[in-house]
Amino acid sequence: MPKVLPIAQLGESILRERASEVRFVDQSIVHDTKIQELIDDMIFTCNKVDGVGISAPQVFQPLRIFVMASRPSARYPYAPVMEPTAMINPLLITWSDVTPKGWEGCLSIPGIRGQVPRSKEIVAGYLDRHGQWHQKEFDGFLAKIFLHELDHLDGIVFLDRTDSRDLVVESEFQKLVAAGKT
Ligand code: ZN
Repeated sequence: MPKVLPIAQLGESILRERASEVRFVDQSIVHDTKIQELIDDMIFTCNKVDGVGISAPQVFQPLRIFVMASRPSARYPYAPVMEPTAMINPLLITWSDVTPKGWEGCLSIPGIRGQVPRSKEIVAGYLDRHGQWHQKEFDGFLAKIFLHELDHLDGIVFLDRTDSRDLVVESEFQKLVAAGKT
């Protein structure tokens, strides 16, 4: 049975460290039960806490793995639906210079939302949980999730990319959502 994992909160040193590549020799590491279990637990945890993405460092595993799991929720009412997808050793291949600001939050930084500039369109590469390589285009909200989670693998949190004047507390963010201003 998958389980809910504890989530590292801002201040934990693991959130500020570069995570290590998952090493491949013959794909066997991907089929390692521990990696598969970790991915199942990350998807389960992300779902339980209404997140749209979660990275391995956020659950105290210093590995280059994250899950994208976009779907509309109270936290992200406008999120598109996407099957939860684990990405291993993800890479940013190309990105647009157009970087509109959009709202982000983080499971490791509860209670704060901020407007973060991110590339509108990207091409990303990653290994899936079966060890297959994929190259995909993401735009808008999905590009934002990919870039936010990729940052976690490099010890970066969204606050590092925000002007502090673009931060609000959760209750004020919910007012903006209710007013249709997000
Ligand atoms: Zn985050």
